Amino acid sequence: MSGRGIDDDLAGAHWHAQTLAVRAGLPRSAHGEHSEALFLSSSFVQPDAEGAAARFAGDEEGFLYSRFSNPTVAAMEQRLAALEGTEAALATASGMGAITLLMLALLQAGDHVVCSRSVFGATLKLVGETFGRFGVETTFVSQTDIAEWRSALRPGRTRLLFAETPSNPLTEVCDIAALAALAHDCGALLVVDNCFCSPALQRPADFGADLVMHSGTKFLDGQGRVLAGALCGTRPIVEGRLLPVQRSAGISLSPFNAWVVLKGLETLSLRVRAQSASALELAAWLQDQPGVARVHYPGLASHAQHALAMSQQSGQGGGVLSFELSAASPEQARKRAFALIDATRLCSITANFGDTRSTITHPASTSHGRLSPQQREAAGIGQGLIRVGVGLEHVDDIRNDLARGLGMQP
Ligand SMILES: *Cc1c(COP(=O)(O)O)cnc(C)c1O
Repeated sequence: MSGRGIDDDLAGAHWHAQTLAVRAGLPRSAHGEHSEALFLSSSFVQPDAEGAAARFAGDEEGFLYSRFSNPTVAAMEQRLAALEGTEAALATASGMGAITLLMLALLQAGDHVVCSRSVFGATLKLVGETFGRFGVETTFVSQTDIAEWRSALRPGRTRLLFAETPSNPLTEVCDIAALAALAHDCGALLVVDNCFCSPALQRPADFGADLVMHSGTKFLDGQGRVLAGALCGTRPIVEGRLLPVQRSAGISLSPFNAWVVLKGLETLSLRVRAQSASALELAAWLQDQPGVARVHYPGLASHAQHALAMSQQSGQGGGVLSFELSAASPEQARKRAFALIDATRLCSITANFGDTRSTITHPASTSHGRLSPQQREAAGIGQGLIRVGVGLEHVDDIRNDLARGLGMQP
């Protein structure tokens, strides 16, 4: 938890993100290792009994036990905070672990949450159902209609607004600054799930979000290897409110996974920009294909919040797109979607995205399969919808793969 970067200077706001991505983190150890060390140690030896007491009491900085803090995890937290432009970050075992920690640390029975109805399927379940059992009430609202968010607020009871932008898998974009203003007017915090863009494209804190949530499993690792999560925000929130609960709740990130993400962050910007460029090319091509009813991609001028997306996302659409096949009925739509997916050879049929390898999924029967038909319909997840997480393969090869799928329509 040492407060210094590799160089004192790196704390300065004048460094570019690409520099911070390879330089920000903890200082080197006494060995002078050039690449960050992996501290696979569950506990840390204390100088003496007095020192141990002072560290456990929080009067002195130092590593104690890896459920609370670990040098490799701290390096990843510092690097991610530097990229998100926040004072601090706290790593968690997974993205869902980050949301669990957030709710455990900031809410109590009787509190109220306003959440977009287009968030990740597991988020809908966790926030609405699991935390509902503990007396936290959630109102689900439209991703894009600010008036609906406003009318859902209950002054004095609403503590959190939770948004994910762009949303998975429809890539609907919400206005972070407008939601932050709403939240702050009512004394609530705005949390933004930044998985889709990553800080390479979008920094929600710059638009007023109080907490930025990550699944490090996606673009931050970027190579499909580990589960990881994080919450980024101010020191009073991260260290004052989240960390004490993390210490007892134990939703901690393993040092090995933290090291993988730490190294993944070094190439984040290169990967995400390349994936964005390919996704835009594929989205534009898909729009013109017979049998494709609609393409969802924020980089397309036809996207309903294109201008807003470009202003929040550094002018890029991101590495994920989805599209809907035309069909006469939900049954036919599902059949067509399955036939397309099964005809691809390059794309992996797997639920992840943000990997070096392109992935293809049918959200209605996978990521959103546990939702009731009503919840699915409210979230706009139809049977003909297909999501593609664009990888780093040559764009022509991905296009040819999807073209083979489109050609196989039953
Ligand atoms: C994957 C994902 C999560 C959950 O993250 P895990 O690391 O799988 O727990 C949350 N939100 C979004 C947008 C995601 O894509």
